[in-house]
Amino acid sequence: MSTVRLLECLQQWFQAQCDEDWEHGYGVEIATMSNPGWSLQIDLTGTILEEKSFSGLEYGCDEGGHDWMRCKVEEAQFTGNGGPTKLPELIQTFLNWAKTEQNWLAVPPYQSARELDLEWYRNLSEETGPELCRREGCGVARIAQSVFCRRHQFEQVKGYLPTE
Ligand SMILES: [Zn+2]
Repeated sequence: MSTVRLLECLQQWFQAQCDEDWEHGYGVEIATMSNPGWSLQIDLTGTILEEKSFSGLEYGCDEGGHDWMRCKVEEAQFTGNGGPTKLPELIQTFLNWAKTEQNWLAVPPYQSARELDLEWYRNLSEETGPELCRREGCGVARIAQSVFCRRHQFEQVKGYLPTE
């Protein structure tokens, strides 16, 4: 792959993750190191690569000189370090691994079912009563749309108590 193509693919992958949320907490970092060398760090949290295993790749690390590289995946982060001419190869290594996923630009479902449930819960109206929740022993005022308080309305509809 040409270096330009490598950068284009890395951009594509980054863009695919951006959902106005992911990019605020996670991202890609390219930096230099004093040994000297390059470091490439790519966050995998919230991507389809998060649980994917990587056997690692390493050569030349104990030999001195510039011809060395080490790539690994740990704690949902791809980390590649290499000599001063290895930046393209670091990016290539990440892409080769990512592209073993058939839909390597796919993203996981934005929210789990439970997250959607919690969002629904947060949108229930205030517990203004004045009647109390009809669930025995509850003592909390009911919400406008229901005879229950928010928690018990949630339980009534979803079948479990909200955990937030
Ligand atoms: Zn209640």
